[in-house]
Amino acid sequence: MRSSSTNPENDLSHKLKWLMFFRILFTSLLLGSTIILHLGESPSPLASPLLVLYGLIAGVFLLSLFYALFLQRVKRKVLFAYIQIGIDTFVVTLIIFVTGSFASIFSFLYLVVIICSSMLIFRRGSMVMASLCSIQYGIMIDLEYYGILNPFVMEGGSVAANYVWSHVLYKIIIIMSACFAVAFLSGFLSEQLKKTKKELSALEDRIKRVEKLAYMGEMAASIAHEFKNPLASLAGSIQIIKQEVHCDSEIDKLMQIVLRETDRLSDLANNFLLFAKPPAGKIEQIKLDSALTETVKLFEKDSACSGRISILNELSSDIWIEMDPVHLSQVLWNLLLNAAEAIENRGFIKIKTYPLKHNYAGIEIADDGCGMSRELIKSIFNPFFTTKPNGTGLGLSIVHSILESYNTWLDVESEVNKGTTFTLKLKRIDPPS
Ligand code: ADP
Ligand code: MG
Repeated sequence: MRSSSTNPENDLSHKLKWLMFFRILFTSLLLGSTIILHLGESPSPLASPLLVLYGLIAGVFLLSLFYALFLQRVKRKVLFAYIQIGIDTFVVTLIIFVTGSFASIFSFLYLVVIICSSMLIFRRGSMVMASLCSIQYGIMIDLEYYGILNPFVMEGGSVAANYVWSHVLYKIIIIMSACFAVAFLSGFLSEQLKKTKKELSALEDRIKRVEKLAYMGEMAASIAHEFKNPLASLAGSIQIIKQEVHCDSEIDKLMQIVLRETDRLSDLANNFLLFAKPPAGKIEQIKLDSALTETVKLFEKDSACSGRISILNELSSDIWIEMDPVHLSQVLWNLLLNAAEAIENRGFIKIKTYPLKHNYAGIEIADDGCGMSRELIKSIFNPFFTTKPNGTGLGLSIVHSILESYNTWLDVESEVNKGTTFTLKLKRIDPPS
């Protein structure tokens, strides 16, 4: 099964905390140093640009306090992240405005905000923020150019209105392109990272499962092996007693029970050994559709299926694989049996094969049975896990351990009361000439 152990909500909440921390740190350092620099130059510590900077610092601190108070309570964390970062773009515009607007050295802060946004709200978020930044910057510089807005700090002649329009337009376009380029690149990288993290966690799940199976297999295989001989002696002795001693029907019935139960136990031990130590297969080249059709034909005659279940085939005709045919039919049989057992009355099982990229073939076995919850799916590969009164809980464990020896595994998708689909991926070979 592929399941992710990292919860995206928790992940986002964690990232939001970091964002809030860095925002405070960054604001303190950046605006603090700007104030110190200007204090040296400016005659009065209460000059208007400085006042705005004090206000900005206070504002950011207040906002951070507000965010911190609400972080745990807010349910829609993604929206919360959008709002926080949206406000950040506005704060950056204000910073740029009070530090000289067109001449400000702080326009790069837009890029910092966009990179942060890509880490929290991924590609779409960073594109939204790039648009917000571009709009704000464009409007601010335009207003300055037309003399509607006067920047606070005028160093020399670097007010937008003093430049020719092409120069102003050029700068706006440069900033906007930088915003979108950074949004695209960092969005792309963060999407990649998200994907890799997901794959890694699926792989981790799988490794844990394999380790657990290996350990339990080792331990239990030796016990199962020790079971076989005493069971055989037991069954043998009862059979001899039955033949030698003439008993009344009551005792005979009891002996039948002993024989039936020893049979069951020895079946269980054999099945278990099959799972724990699958015999090394005799690899053959198999034409997938013929092999599957053969197993399906047998299965249709089995009592688990007979009459109540229709099996639909959708088999791609020219797929060849390399596998022990016994293994293939064991895998298929177990999956078909589970599918049939999941269907209460009438239903269908669909078997589909198709070629996949990179020389793989996919086999899908879908049923419209009872389905499974996410919780249940986590346990189904555990040996002896069963939800059936007479189940052994070894079917899927056997399937899993056989597939392990071919370096492949099963994917499960299931929905309660809708059905289940098991998918396996096998290495494809070229058809023998
Ligand atoms: P068993 O069939 O003996 O119970 P398995 O290892 O084959 O053992 O299956 C383990 C459990 O997985 C089953 O008891 C059942 O709850 C669940 N399961 C497996 N396949 C399906 C399916 N196709 N639909 C619903 N549940 C399934
Ligand atoms: Mg089973």
